[in-house]
Amino acid sequence: MKSAILHLFYKFKLLLLFTSCLIVVAWVTSSYLVGTVQEMPKAKSLVENFRAATMLLKGNQKKTTTSTVEVPTVKSTMNHCPAVSPYLQGPAQLKFKAFLTLEEVQKENPQVAKGRHHPAECSALQRVAILIPHRNREKHLLYLLEHLHPFLQRQQLDYGIYVIHQACSTKFNRAKLLNVGYLEALKEENWDCFIFHDVDLIPENDFNIYMCDKQPKHLVVGRNNTGYRLRYKGYFGGVTALTRDQFSMVNGFSNSYWGWGAEDDDLRIRVEMQKMQVMRPPPDVAKYTMIFHTRDRGNEENGERMKLLRQVSRTWKTDGLNSCSYKLLSVEHKPLYTNITVDFSMPPNIS
Ligand code: UDP
Ligand code: BGC
Ligand code: MN
Repeated sequence: MKSAILHLFYKFKLLLLFTSCLIVVAWVTSSYLVGTVQEMPKAKSLVENFRAATMLLKGNQKKTTTSTVEVPTVKSTMNHCPAVSPYLQGPAQLKFKAFLTLEEVQKENPQVAKGRHHPAECSALQRVAILIPHRNREKHLLYLLEHLHPFLQRQQLDYGIYVIHQACSTKFNRAKLLNVGYLEALKEENWDCFIFHDVDLIPENDFNIYMCDKQPKHLVVGRNNTGYRLRYKGYFGGVTALTRDQFSMVNGFSNSYWGWGAEDDDLRIRVEMQKMQVMRPPPDVAKYTMIFHTRDRGNEENGERMKLLRQVSRTWKTDGLNSCSYKLLSVEHKPLYTNITVDFSMPPNIS
């Protein structure tokens, strides 16, 4: 009898042990699973961040092999340039020499050829094309070139400067010129980043980095003639930086803004419609001097601009890079820049 009770007790103990083991195993597994599920988004966002951070870098590496422009082989074995260039100087007191000539600026920049330069000591983080719309602002162009070349070199960029010149006396079309610049520059090199740059704006601080970011970037927070304050909340004019893909995603600029105004507001609407968000560097860095000028002849205020702005959501898909027609008159490789001259025929309803 006693041994039967003992046997039963032993069986009960075994059962108890087995059940507690089961409970422990179930608890460990479930908490592990919960932990994994909770960790997933964290891991996902880490990977996404890493991807975003290396996206442009990878693009560069890929392009080194597919580029049509000859890249010295030593370049691909070089280390990437640091995130912050050691040559940056911070705020600068700009000087505008009264009698500057193109020859002088060329002499100051013997290492620049065909408007291009890349650092000798490291492989640049991005390939950047600077696009400048231009007509009849020779003096401004000279000052911009004089300041921009050393500025971009201090930032250790692999860059090229393109001036897109509108020939003929038709109304000026800044946005269409910039579309042409993008399309033509991509025929020469697979640029990662495009800086759309007014000819009369000179950056005052080289910590205002001429590279593209995860979102379209507006580089002019303040300029001397407006008390260094942002002109209005949505201001997206003067100097902007968009990656090749960001610009192509919005179908570039509209081609329909003849004369002054609102083509930059149109681009901002396109950017916002693609759920992208404009970013800006800090105000003490994103400072420019605008060389004084009055309104140019042939660039009078566009009376149609508000009407055009109201139609962006209907027109952006068919009015932009994919519909930019122009007559290419010449592409000249000058020492300090590539000059692209184009002729536009204006639609008959524009006077
Ligand atoms: N621009 C030009 N020639 C003209 C009109 C305009 O080269 O006849 C270019 C130039 O790059 C200029 C930009 O278009 O900086 C914007 O025009 P503007 O300077 O008149 O605009 P703002 O921002 O000063 O109102
Ligand atoms: C125009 C823009 C211009 C801005 C600042 C706006 O009214 O639409 O094209 O850049 O003023 O001058
Ligand atoms: Mn201006």
